[in-house]
Amino acid sequence: MKTEFSLAQLADPDIAEADKILRACVHCGFCTATCPTYVLLGDELDSPRGRIYLIKEMLEKDKPPTAEVVKHIDRCLSCLACMTTCPSGVNYMHLVDQARVRIERDFSRPLPERALRAVLAFVLPRPSLFRAGMIMARLGRPFAALLPTSKTAPATPTLLRRIKAMLALAPGRLPAPGPAGGSVFPALGTRRGRVALLQGCAQQVLAPRINQAAINLLTRHGIEVVLVKDEQCCGALTHHLGRDGDALARARANITVWQSEAEQGGLDAILVTASGCGTVIKDYGYLLREDREFAGPAAKISALTKDITEYLAGFDLHPSNQQGDVTIAYHSACSLQHGQKITALPKDLLSKNGFVVKDVPESHLCCGSAGTYNILQPDIASRLRDRKIANLATVKPDMIAAGNIGCMVQIAGGTSVPVVHTIELLDWATGGPKPGLAGRD
Ligand code: SF4
Ligand code: SF4
Repeated sequence: MKTEFSLAQLADPDIAEADKILRACVHCGFCTATCPTYVLLGDELDSPRGRIYLIKEMLEKDKPPTAEVVKHIDRCLSCLACMTTCPSGVNYMHLVDQARVRIERDFSRPLPERALRAVLAFVLPRPSLFRAGMIMARLGRPFAALLPTSKTAPATPTLLRRIKAMLALAPGRLPAPGPAGGSVFPALGTRRGRVALLQGCAQQVLAPRINQAAINLLTRHGIEVVLVKDEQCCGALTHHLGRDGDALARARANITVWQSEAEQGGLDAILVTASGCGTVIKDYGYLLREDREFAGPAAKISALTKDITEYLAGFDLHPSNQQGDVTIAYHSACSLQHGQKITALPKDLLSKNGFVVKDVPESHLCCGSAGTYNILQPDIASRLRDRKIANLATVKPDMIAAGNIGCMVQIAGGTSVPVVHTIELLDWATGGPKPGLAGRD
């Protein structure tokens, strides 16, 4: 794709990067076939190619984006299916991230929307506030039905519609908090390794049992696990809202504490059980590439970060107690399959440990969770969820497994089949408890 940036514009490293990405696109349109919003809405401007044109124009003109441009960029899930499909290696992720930052900086959203985004950006990364918010949302849930619903879905969802979606996502009850940062879980038997386990923010409130399963499994196999003190939200939530000042500050804070932990106690890896977080931490090196102080450490931290299934693939687990009579529909989270290119590994681990793992039709399509997307774009998100659940149901599973809490909550909101984390199943197979329900339990 031909670009027309001026030399002065190209002196900005972000614009130089955008120019490189845009030039790689040959506008073949292959990506449109796997883009969930194009599949649902059929509008070229809601396809990756359409959005690439919109972003190109916005950056070249260097003017505040129009409401129309913002509408189509906001509808993008950042699921990255387009990156998997693109034959030219267009890095859509870095392009749309840049567009979101521009929109946040240069576009004046209506006041209710600005307020909602500010609340989400402030509350979600802080587990204590998120917990309080979830309790309030649970109390407010009975009133959700009383909120008016417009008969036709407007192009941009109203504040009331979004509040309704938020209330619907609140779990029926909240589990007790898990262990605090600073806790160390010694290896059982001979120590074979030492890892940090990302505590996550929403996950530690909604489902602390996921990391508990990871700790149980790892320590049982001789790995010491540390929950690093003063670790923060990875920054993914605010990064996807275009608030990079907040996201990068969190990245720097995390790099500082992880680096110090690695120097003091030694770390073989930083393990992540929420793939949405893993994708962003693996990108810290890119995000901080222009930061003189942090560029090097950020690249090292990104290289040290692994999805938990990547780490487990490296050693033999204890013999499984599974008899091959539990059928699992494996939901491949977008951040895992498209963001980190981890596709077969979780399924192989489950199969090797005695589960019958079924591939799900249209597994490349997002479930509609996508960070705060199911709150900000509830209508598209619900259509994607219903489509995902219908596809999952075709394999008649006993359980649905996923590697990302956002997907688990989204899917659990529309099915009675238990939705569990892959690590809970592996823990169960090697001596842990049978996993229960996710999200709404
Ligand atoms: S598939 Fe890749 S090269 Fe083709 S239009 Fe989409 S982004 Fe551009
Ligand atoms: S990230 Fe997903 S929703 Fe956005 S353009 Fe790419 S495929 Fe479409």
